[in-house]
Amino acid sequence: MDKLELWMPVSRPSYILMDENGSVVEEGPELTDKEVYCDFCNADIPLRPVPVVCGSALCLDCLKAEPDLKAQVTPTLMRLWEQQREEKSRIV
Ligand SMILES: [Zn+2]
Repeated sequence: MDKLELWMPVSRPSYILMDENGSVVEEGPELTDKEVYCDFCNADIPLRPVPVVCGSALCLDCLKAEPDLKAQVTPTLMRLWEQQREEKSRIV
């Protein structure tokens, strides 16, 4: 079973390319801590902390589609995420 991890996003390059020596060759445009996208469906992720599995960020819909992952979320955290998603949908 894949382990669900939690991530507090920070400003970072959208991607980093390295050569075989591990030196940075190219960095993508900067993403802010507000810009987090689902690696499965590309949706905007308003959840904090962000659910991550195997290095991929997940939106709430994609997370809920995986019973193994959903089972690792406490009811309190799930409620918080539901609230965050609802607040986000009211603003947009
Ligand atoms: Zn998704």
